Amino acid sequence: MPTIQDELGRRSLLYSLLMPVMNQFVPGLDKGKGMYFLFVKSEARTPGGLLARPVLTSYYKSPHFVERPHDPYTVYTSPNEAILCPDSYQSMYAQLLCGLAQREEVLRVGAVFASGFIRAIRFLEKHWRALCRDLLTGAADPDTVTDPSVRSAVAGVLRGPDPELAALVETECGRGSWQGIITRLWPNTKYIDVIVTGTMAQYIPTLDYYSGGLPLACTMYASSECYFGLNLEPMCKPSEVSYTLIPTMAYFEFLPVHRSSGCAADNPDPSDLVGLVDVKLGQEYELVLTTYAGLYRYRVGDVLRVAGFKNNAPRFNFVCRKNVALSIDSDKTDEVELHRAVEKAVGHLEPFGATLVEYTSHADTSTIPGHYVLYWELRTGPTPVPPSVFEDCCLAVEESLNSVYRQGRAVDKSIGPLELRVVEEGTFDKLMDYALSRGASINQYKAPRCVKFEPMVELLNSRVRCNFFSPKCPKWVPGHKQWSTTKSA
Ligand code: AMP
Repeated sequence: MPTIQDELGRRSLLYSLLMPVMNQFVPGLDKGKGMYFLFVKSEARTPGGLLARPVLTSYYKSPHFVERPHDPYTVYTSPNEAILCPDSYQSMYAQLLCGLAQREEVLRVGAVFASGFIRAIRFLEKHWRALCRDLLTGAADPDTVTDPSVRSAVAGVLRGPDPELAALVETECGRGSWQGIITRLWPNTKYIDVIVTGTMAQYIPTLDYYSGGLPLACTMYASSECYFGLNLEPMCKPSEVSYTLIPTMAYFEFLPVHRSSGCAADNPDPSDLVGLVDVKLGQEYELVLTTYAGLYRYRVGDVLRVAGFKNNAPRFNFVCRKNVALSIDSDKTDEVELHRAVEKAVGHLEPFGATLVEYTSHADTSTIPGHYVLYWELRTGPTPVPPSVFEDCCLAVEESLNSVYRQGRAVDKSIGPLELRVVEEGTFDKLMDYALSRGASINQYKAPRCVKFEPMVELLNSRVRCNFFSPKCPKWVPGHKQWSTTKSA
């Protein structure tokens, strides 16, 4: 994405609005700190010599972040040196160590997306023993944190051995269950600041488990192309989150999404575009940007719905990112529909205490007919899940999918039975590591809801523990053709 120096000012402006808004709902945040897990990625140069790096890396490395004046509302537990360390392992380790050392002062915790925050908690699950040793000795393990600037920044935070704290963290982490670990380790936490709208919604149960149901605050909506806006009611339920776009961030236009097809025109006429002041309540639109950096009438790919207005400014629900679709024949399954179907199906696992940690899907056309494959990573409970229950899950997903899909399955036989592949624990971490190794940013990474890229499919397939197929066709009632859509390009 092209960007220019001025963008940093606009991003800072948006960040500077977050705490004044939050302060209206949660007072006293100036009396403590935020434990945020923030990361940078290494940089590259384009063949023309321009710097190429993720948007958050450019922001964290800029004077706007590094030289920010002291503000009691934005004091973080992580030293800049730890955030700016290019080795994400050392960075994560140091940030967790500093967060634990300042546990009493922490009033809010977070990361950019929910997945990043959960990754930090998983890291803690793996490394708490080493972290406790460091709290005991008062210094970061020299074999783990080797970067001298990070070591000295951490030493400044730890300020010597703390056997009492080390024992407390050890006791809490050593308990069998990690339920409520966030408030057990950081007892003054008032909320978790992470994005849980869009594809991130599936992490809500995991966050609730680790936090004992702390409020989840989705504060802002942004992208690499442009920062868009903020949630003026950040303590609302995740399902009610809406974002108000800041009209000075870019020139925003909106392409109506047709209810019949669920998408906007592929080659729209400019006269189809609607201005920010003309959007209609309840209507869905694709977001179109003209940015200061040079993108002209650029389709981000996000679908937004007008949820209401703040004065005259529209508030938007994030609906989905378009084109995240499974398609075998003329069926077209988007991210939201898939998510709903999966949510319904996992209910079958509840009696066994098993929960879904992460999922993705793939349209497998190597079989004839092709079929949908779901990859599920589970946290298993006390009772093993019988194969017949997994088969029920397959059928439950199919029953929840659209009429075109079910017709293809039940009548046309153009779609094969849905397959569920249960993958080993840690598979989605491996998938993320793979994406990171190919240049994805740890802050901005989101597990794909649908994988097409062959190496990723292979990675998933190499870690399948067992697989199940839908035992019969889902029901299809003739005459429900109103959802018929053409195959997506
Ligand atoms: P990236 O440029 O990789 O950071 O991705 C930007 C995209 O992330 C946006 O276009 C959205 O699809 C998604 N995204 C960013 N913020 C939010 C949010 N608050 N809620 C839902 N999705 C979001």
